[in-house]
Amino acid sequence: MYTVLVISCHPDDMEIACAGTLLKCKERGDRVVVCHLSSGNLGHEIIPPEELKVMRAKEAQRSGALGGFEVMWGGFDDLEIYDNNKEARDKVVDVIKKVDPDFIITHDPDDYMPDHTATARLVFDACFTATLPNYHTPTEGRARMVPVYYMDTLAGVRFNPTEYVDVSKYIDKKLEMLNCHESQIVWMRDHDHIDFPDMVKTCCRYRGFQCGADYAEGFRQCQVYLKGTTKRYLP
Ligand SMILES: [Zn+2]
Repeated sequence: MYTVLVISCHPDDMEIACAGTLLKCKERGDRVVVCHLSSGNLGHEIIPPEELKVMRAKEAQRSGALGGFEVMWGGFDDLEIYDNNKEARDKVVDVIKKVDPDFIITHDPDDYMPDHTATARLVFDACFTATLPNYHTPTEGRARMVPVYYMDTLAGVRFNPTEYVDVSKYIDKKLEMLNCHESQIVWMRDHDHIDFPDMVKTCCRYRGFQCGADYAEGFRQCQVYLKGTTKRYLP
């Protein structure tokens, strides 16, 4: 039906914020492509970056396979994502051209850490640039001008959704996918001092209270010229 492209930063961000929605997209027949911009190589207190990178790639592939999603990589490492940078923007332009989505989901520009906020700004810049026929990157051709949805921030801080997706039917599978990221269950315990699956489930319950569902995920549309739509793309 639609092609949805998620451009998120670290492997596990998609599971936290929008896996339930993507599972629902799959069920209605969408093609779901997830691009993790960063390898996630710094997300552990003990495991060294090169080893962690390999581990996290496997975790992401396992999770993606559970959902039936296509998994791509953006080619960045943690804390090496900068916007206002042509090389970085062109990498994202290339991803968008390759997939040519009907709509894009990415981080909120007001999220909690620099990789997330840089990803949001790069996607904003790249999704316009990718529509220009005479702007050249390794992938030729052009993408269409499409709506962009910002997914929830970590723990929902400073984020007011304008659209909700009821994910009650998919909450168990979303958590199963999240649990594929075994290294991050440990990281979030050691670095953030939280029970990671419990936080993610609680946030979905909280968003559910806001829209009359048991569990929900929240989004807001990027509202700028040419990105408005009369259609509801989210499932
Ligand atoms: Zn992240």
